[in-house]
Amino acid sequence: MHLTFSPEDEEYRARLRAWLDGHHAELAGAAGLMAGGGAANILDAIGMAREWQRTLYEAGYVGLAWPKAYGGQEATLTQQVIVSEELSRRNTPPLINTIGLTILGPTLVQHGTEEQKQRFLPKILTAEELWCQGFSVPEAGSDLAALRTRAEIDGDTFVVTGQKVWTSMAPIADWCFLLVRTDPTAPRHEGISYLLCDMRAPGITVRPLRNAAGGIHFSEVFFEDVRVPAANLVGELHAGWQIARSTLGHERSGLAGVLSLESNLMRLWRTAATLPRGDGVALDDTAVRRELAQRWIELEGLRHLGFRTLSAQLAGREPGASASVGKLFASELRSRIAATALRVEGPLAQVAKKSPHTVDRGRWHAFYFDAIGHSIGGGTAQIQRNTIAERVLGLPRSVQGERAEGGGPGR
Ligand SMILES: Cc1cc2nc3c(=O)[nH]c(=O)nc-3n(C[C@H](O)[C@H](O)[C@H](O)COP(=O)(O)OP(=O)(O)OC[C@H]3O[C@@H](n4cnc5c(N)ncnc54)[C@H](O)[C@@H]3O)c2cc1C
Repeated sequence: MHLTFSPEDEEYRARLRAWLDGHHAELAGAAGLMAGGGAANILDAIGMAREWQRTLYEAGYVGLAWPKAYGGQEATLTQQVIVSEELSRRNTPPLINTIGLTILGPTLVQHGTEEQKQRFLPKILTAEELWCQGFSVPEAGSDLAALRTRAEIDGDTFVVTGQKVWTSMAPIADWCFLLVRTDPTAPRHEGISYLLCDMRAPGITVRPLRNAAGGIHFSEVFFEDVRVPAANLVGELHAGWQIARSTLGHERSGLAGVLSLESNLMRLWRTAATLPRGDGVALDDTAVRRELAQRWIELEGLRHLGFRTLSAQLAGREPGASASVGKLFASELRSRIAATALRVEGPLAQVAKKSPHTVDRGRWHAFYFDAIGHSIGGGTAQIQRNTIAERVLGLPRSVQGERAEGGGPGR
């Protein structure tokens, strides 16, 4: 797919560059957050990240693919590509409400009621309300349809009881979109409903979980007789599985993955160009240069996969199973970039993150563990292969294929 940028597109790019130049302070603040500095405490950091998203939104650079009726920009494919390229070049951090913007938002645009769209979409764009996703449960991750989180109907309210696990952003989220079983007698994929739940409702307990990198990215969330208004049901009662599939398609598509990998690869190249090695630097090593070049080639491949999915979406087509190709390629490329980073670091790769000798303030340690998370969240690599084999290539279903349409994000 060859993208050509018209003179109007180049004007659009010039306007964005001028805007970014004019907002250097906010940009530096946001980028500082990404590097783990710039805020006195986590609450300040969240406040700054919300403010950065609101500033970018008010300038017209958030919700690019969304309808104007709900605060979106209805931007063209080339405009969307320009924004992702320019933000990546300035090393801007992912937006704090990514789960709301890239997963729930597009799902509500497609399946929400007019009231739900008017009520929730604008506050996703401004980062006034942050979202998390309550799909996975201890007994069902890949085999999501086996979930048992229960919702009983009591008049015009659902009463939710059960547990969610691996819920990213739960400690700071204002709302959660979750899958619940509303009819325990129905076959697996039937009897599931999709609810929008206020995280401040009585009966919710969030218990953060520490991941392998020592960070707190996700949590367990417990629901004890939590009351959710019937107006917060998305789609038909007991028909949440179809909505969940469209959510999974949105989660696995788009250019967000390309943006983050590009800024990391650029950063790794700069590290290799400055990291002392023998009489020179790491980049003097032919093997390092060849490996970095190979990662760039793979990134270009991923970028064009992203363009293809994006143009399908702009044509009004659901991302569907082909989004799994991009998700799988992106998560495996992230692991390869992590391995290349350790090779660039050489013997220093073993140095502890907090050591004064660590490279790039231990950035590549965190990146290495984060890459493992990306190969699991959003549906594991094995599940993506199943989906590609069965629903893209039309190969016969594996015994578990019927069961394992995993879910839940990341990144
Ligand atoms: C960083 C991160 C963030 C996450 N964020 C969220 C979130 O915000 N919300 C949310 O709901 N969930 C989230 N998850 C959970 C994620 O979606 C699940 O971990 C994932 O779907 C796998 O489910 P599981 O952990 O239960 O593993 P299991 O399903 O128990 O799988 C265990 C292993 O068996 C393999 N396997 C299972 N079934 C099959 C099959 N049919 N064929 C071949 N292999 C199979 C899997 O690939 C895996 O290797 C997150 C996970 C991570 C790592």
